[in-house]
Amino acid sequence: MEAPQIDQDTELGALSYGESILRILTNDQINEDIAAVTAGIGAVNTRFGIINSLYYDPRRKRLRAKQAGRGGTGTVMRHKGLRAVVVNSSLPRIGANNPVDPMGVKEAGGKLKRVISQMDPKQLRLSLWGTPVLVEYMDRYHLLPVQNYQYGQHPDSSKVFADVFLERYFEKRMPDGCYLGCNLACAKGAEKVRLSRGPMAGKDVGIDGPEYENIAAVTGMGIFDPQFVMEYNWYCDNYGLDTISMGVTASFLMECYQRGFLTEREVGYPLQWGDADTAFRLLHETALGKGFGRVCGQGVKRAKEWVAKQCSIRIAKPIETVMAELNKFAMEVKGLEFSMYIPKESLAQQGGYGFSLKGPQHDEAWLIFIDQIHNELPTFEMKAQALKWFPLVRTWFNAVGLCKLP
Ligand code: SF4
Repeated sequence: MEAPQIDQDTELGALSYGESILRILTNDQINEDIAAVTAGIGAVNTRFGIINSLYYDPRRKRLRAKQAGRGGTGTVMRHKGLRAVVVNSSLPRIGANNPVDPMGVKEAGGKLKRVISQMDPKQLRLSLWGTPVLVEYMDRYHLLPVQNYQYGQHPDSSKVFADVFLERYFEKRMPDGCYLGCNLACAKGAEKVRLSRGPMAGKDVGIDGPEYENIAAVTGMGIFDPQFVMEYNWYCDNYGLDTISMGVTASFLMECYQRGFLTEREVGYPLQWGDADTAFRLLHETALGKGFGRVCGQGVKRAKEWVAKQCSIRIAKPIETVMAELNKFAMEVKGLEFSMYIPKESLAQQGGYGFSLKGPQHDEAWLIFIDQIHNELPTFEMKAQALKWFPLVRTWFNAVGLCKLP
């Protein structure tokens, strides 16, 4: 159908546009039977647009949004002229997929629930903390990608540990989760967070997240401010930007500035580590396709080529010479930005990043934890075997549409 026209501010946002569409289609009675997939203006203006899946959460009494699509799925969607996909279903929520063995499913679910409720409190405590708990682990083991992966930890990291988000932002009175009945319920969210920056400053919003990757991407820019993390999370979601690629590209450009490959003349303003106002300016310019944001929106691979060209003219050196230097800290493989782990001391994670089909993303081979933190893969052979079985298991979960965490 023809996409309905809504006011311009609402049109720009993946979240705001999706909510408006669902309100129109349900006569303002959004419920659990209807859901939408949308991509915002950031997906139009960058190569790393993601998709938002919006669904009604009866416990929070609002729409929630989960993001997916590293590698530019949202960008492809918008460039094909697709604004939203809406699904309306009258199927019952329990048994809707008509299982062959309902009792077997029930027994397996009960067993899984027992294992998780016994083990999670002794392990990562994802039910309580969500994935932000990983920030503390990664900082302790020098794996946090601080300042474009230059440092694995930072004295200010504790400002963005999980307890800060739990105390200041997360809703603690209800078990959370992407859907009713998830055994692990690690998907945290916050209500009525007031935005202090950007075009929506002053507005109170519900925020889904942050996840570890959102927080770590912010530390990549040298920022350790939990309010910045929340707002970065929300703006990236609303624009339809991949928080990892946005953060890694901004961090790469900051390191270019630090090392003199970029100057204020090319950027239009200083691009310093830890400068929250500048980081937000770059985020909004990137999403809206304005100013220096047009370079950032190309992602690390193409931004690197642009920087090399400008710099080689300015310093009168061959472009290959400049590119050789940029390649030392341009965190991309196959055109995709690295996800949020420093892999230099984990051969298994290096392999996981290198072999992944879409590029250096952790979902296929997230081996950093068992290799470097738990040291369960001490030999070369064990790492090689893990690189075979781990992606098979994880990809199976993706293929059948199940979450791989619980
Ligand atoms: S375990 Fe998976 S489905 Fe459950 S809340 Fe976490 S991410 Fe969502």
